[in-house]
Amino acid sequence: MLTITGLSHVYGNGTRALDGVNLTIPAGMFGLLGPNGAGKSTLMRTIATLQSPTSGSILFDGLDVLKEPEALRRTLGYLPQDFGVYPRGSAYDMLDHMAVLKGIGHGGERKQTVEALLHKVNLWDVRKKALAGFSGGMRQRFGIAQALIGNPRLIIVDEPTAGLDPEERNRFLNLLAEIGDNVVVILSTHIVEDVADLCPRMAVLAGGRILLEGAPLDLIAET
Ligand code: ADP
Ligand code: ADP
Repeated sequence: MLTITGLSHVYGNGTRALDGVNLTIPAGMFGLLGPNGAGKSTLMRTIATLQSPTSGSILFDGLDVLKEPEALRRTLGYLPQDFGVYPRGSAYDMLDHMAVLKGIGHGGERKQTVEALLHKVNLWDVRKKALAGFSGGMRQRFGIAQALIGNPRLIIVDEPTAGLDPEERNRFLNLLAEIGDNVVVILSTHIVEDVADLCPRMAVLAGGRILLEGAPLDLIAET
């Protein structure tokens, strides 16, 4: 469970991107819905320990995330909004390098991890092709493979379906749905259907504040 308390972020130019966010996120799929500029990416980067908030606290299963960012990173899978994969390296080599960086052992174990992930995201047949030639959907599926390395217990995906065609979108969301109920998976998006279709719990963020929190069906019934 992720517990966020009084989280605020003011950028150097005075923009208050997060304004006292309180949020409890249980294990399973959680949708963070909000329009562009709501503060979603700021919140996701803050949870991922890529930037420090102006104030507030974040606990993940008892771990003080802001005090022990290294410990959080060891159990984090992150697919950023601007995940770009343009190198000339093959999908297999890139994923293998990322597994090395995540500290996955050598030889057999790493080979098994990388191969299983390539099969899982349906990129096995193109594993020897350069990422530079991948379509948007293939890139996002590669992105989820790299986020899954090492069986993280917290997974953050930021606007993952933007620009995907309906078939690729469904493929991608189905991969997320398979991750399992004992992992906290946060899906940040401005697309209502992404959340309504998949997430038992959700929150709406706008202007840096949480406006609503609950089950999608209850929230739709209320409005
Ligand atoms: P911080 O307070 O975290 O230092 P800054 O305001 O100094 O943030 O901006 C950090 C970087 O983000 C700068 O390179 C800046 O140009 C860029 N930036 C500024 N405004 C925006 C914006 N609205 N969206 C995205 N990036 C921005
Ligand atoms: P979202 O992901 O929901 O679109 P963001 O977290 O990217 O929202 O942005 C929230 C607000 O903070 C916006 O007003 C945006 O312009 C501003 N912002 C984002 N990054 C920066 C930055 N580095 N410097 C200054 N302002 C920023």
